[in-house]
Amino acid sequence: MNYTDIEQIEATYNSGGVGRRPIALVKAQGARLWDSEGNEYIDCAAAQGWANVGHSHPTVTAAIQRQLETLVASQESSYNDQRALWMQALADTLNPRLNWADCYIHPSNSGTEANEAALKLARFVTRRTEIIAMVRGFHGRTMGALSTTWNKKYRIPFEPLIPEITHVPYNNIDKLSAAISDKTAAVLVEIVQGEGGVHLGDEEYFQKMRQLCDQHGALLIVDEIQTGVGRTGKWFASEHHGLTPDVITLGKSIGGGLPMGVTAWQTKVGRFKPGTHGSTFGGNPLACVASRAVIEVMAEEQLVERAAYLGGWLMDEISALDSPKIREVRGLGLMIGIQLKNKVTPILQQLIAQGVWALPAGLNVLRLLPPLTIEQDDLKHVVKTLGEVLGK
Ligand SMILES: *Cc1c(COP(=O)(O)O)cnc(C)c1O
Repeated sequence: MNYTDIEQIEATYNSGGVGRRPIALVKAQGARLWDSEGNEYIDCAAAQGWANVGHSHPTVTAAIQRQLETLVASQESSYNDQRALWMQALADTLNPRLNWADCYIHPSNSGTEANEAALKLARFVTRRTEIIAMVRGFHGRTMGALSTTWNKKYRIPFEPLIPEITHVPYNNIDKLSAAISDKTAAVLVEIVQGEGGVHLGDEEYFQKMRQLCDQHGALLIVDEIQTGVGRTGKWFASEHHGLTPDVITLGKSIGGGLPMGVTAWQTKVGRFKPGTHGSTFGGNPLACVASRAVIEVMAEEQLVERAAYLGGWLMDEISALDSPKIREVRGLGLMIGIQLKNKVTPILQQLIAQGVWALPAGLNVLRLLPPLTIEQDDLKHVVKTLGEVLGK
């Protein structure tokens, strides 16, 4: 199909909820994307943050192909061999890094669902209803997660949302300290705010947040849907600060391209009772084998270390461009935000015209989230292109 045919149908029928670029992507491999007209792009967005091991990684693809012929989806109410193997692999990944004795895991099908489960868990185990979230935070678009998302543009058309949610300024411990109380069920935070503009919190902030949560008996829920799976140069961004969350949520790259959300928490938090939470497709064997393959590939190809190295190098290179259009370069590992002096949209368009696919984060921030497998030569090309577009 050519672009015009594709666009005509989609533009006719789509919900209108998402703005689209005038491009139809039809194929991806590694860190490359192709559109319907045969144009090639370097993927500096990991699609939308979900392709940390790259597109169609052979290990992930082979695992999916094998499982396709065996069992695609399985009843939630029965056990399953592949779900068991995946849970063990994930628990072995989580426990030592987050300093957890052990964990419980609820699989679902998207990031927003992972946060829904975390919010329900917080209400269920604490018997409290107040939630504290952050200014500029993003946690998804279903009603519960949306209530904790900060951007008014996303929230206002759908009010009233769930009550008793307070947004406090990010990386400001005094404001959090003033807001938290013995009525707080949970504090929900990102270690690096993604959609909100690639903003980082500091170690002291997170350590004091942990103490405040302990003092008041509130759960600390860390949303690592974007920062997880090696993105920031640690398996989980919490590790940068030696932070032990009570609950962590994962999505995007954890499914290797298949829809998957994960809510995992320390066993000491407690557990749902039968009937209080579930998901028809959550933990389906197909997504589980893909996710276990992702965990294997992360270790085999040392992608966590690679993200740390390439991220540091890339940030230096971008800073060295010394562009008059750049206000600040910030980030952690391969999660990089370039704060521009002007609007990001025209810059994104110029990059795409030159074969580089990147993301915005708010109005003025250009966000780079390449697959962790990306070749350094590809990134050199990206830097060169950025230099041309952001030049004098
Ligand atoms: C993308 C994202 C979500 C929502 O994930 P979906 O799979 O789109 O529902 C939630 N939190 C963060 C930090 C995200 O980046």
